[in-house]
Amino acid sequence: MNIHEFQGKSILKAYNVDIQEGFVAENPGQAVMVAKEIEKKLASIFFVVKAQIHAGGRGKGGGVKLAKSVDEAGKLAEQIIGMQLVTPQTGPQGKKVRKVLIAQDVYYKGESEIKEYYISILLNRNTGRFVIMYSPEGGMDIEEVAEKTPERIFREEIDPGTGLQPFQTRNIAFKLGLTGTAFKNMQKFLEGIFEAYIGCDAQLLEINPVLKTSDDRVLAVDAKIVLDDNALFRHPDLAEMRDLNEEDPVEVEAGAHNLNFVKLDGNVGCMVNGAGLAMATMDIIKLSGGEPANFLDVGGGANAKTVEAGFRIILKDPAVKAILINIFGGIVRCDRVANGVVEAYKSVGEIRVPVIVRLQGTNAKEAKEIIDNSGLKVLSATSFKEAAERVRSVLQ
Ligand code: GDP
Ligand code: MN
Repeated sequence: MNIHEFQGKSILKAYNVDIQEGFVAENPGQAVMVAKEIEKKLASIFFVVKAQIHAGGRGKGGGVKLAKSVDEAGKLAEQIIGMQLVTPQTGPQGKKVRKVLIAQDVYYKGESEIKEYYISILLNRNTGRFVIMYSPEGGMDIEEVAEKTPERIFREEIDPGTGLQPFQTRNIAFKLGLTGTAFKNMQKFLEGIFEAYIGCDAQLLEINPVLKTSDDRVLAVDAKIVLDDNALFRHPDLAEMRDLNEEDPVEVEAGAHNLNFVKLDGNVGCMVNGAGLAMATMDIIKLSGGEPANFLDVGGGANAKTVEAGFRIILKDPAVKAILINIFGGIVRCDRVANGVVEAYKSVGEIRVPVIVRLQGTNAKEAKEIIDNSGLKVLSATSFKEAAERVRSVLQ
């Protein structure tokens, strides 16, 4: 599950990680209020106004702006809230901004220089260890660093049995070129973010930039945390951070029906039980000259209700030109699924595209009869090859 920057920062703060402080606002009035609060509490006179969407690259897209007064913060919030923000990560349609984070400007100049670093923590599945990836070249162009000077990105692997060791945090702080107070603060920062990563069962924790301020503080200016869905049951407080506005509405609806649905770009909708069969079905769609419009696994216990929900969801996609239902009757009997298809077909009403149904397994013969005798515009197929041919013929 993805969360917003302001939520990620609140998690970090709970683990005593130093952050660029701020408050979230949903309208310009609130933005002015929180900017005043920051002025009072943190004695900060400059602010940064940051669009809160589930995508990075906001700085490049114009979603992060500096304000030199409380009023300007309000004006910038007015500009940014409601805008359709396009960043290198959103796709050309962009994402609607509903909230902004008003934060203190932490890029103030002083005795020593300020510097941006990149730090992330993830799991290396090959070695079964955690890895901290980091670079002294943090900031908005990290993708370019990865591409052109990959030797400037370093890795530190962590044994889950022993956890993050002091020699490792020293090594990282050293390679980042830090000394003195900033070196010590970086070590503390690393311990904090590692504890947060483990503590909230994150899949990814990425902070870019981590800032060394001119007074040698080390703090998180940005925070991207991806939580492991399978561990959310252990964290009801974090599960509440879910923002459905940021998710694909069709995928949200599918989730509500316990369907595993992923939208794709093709023209053949498919409804399958079992992820392996779903993958194979996508292959035969491609072999027959089509492109899958989605991945949809209805699960082992498919019934009329799940089939109906699947139909409705697939039909929401205007690009769909045909639907292929490919179900193996193992736990569920084929005749039951066939009845489900017929019922769903009737209840959905007009289905504007040809539907090809392949049911194999227990009671497959009875199922084929039910489909063939239903009087509906459903084409039945027995083998994979036949299913592929039918898909090809309806696409022509
Ligand atoms: P992203 O572009 O979505 O990754 O958003 P970030 O939170 O990383 O912000 C983008 C950029 O804005 C950062 O790389 C910084 O260079 C800049 N930025 C963020 N906060 C401040 C701030 O307080 N002051 C200044 N001057 N720049 C900031
Ligand atoms: Mn960033």
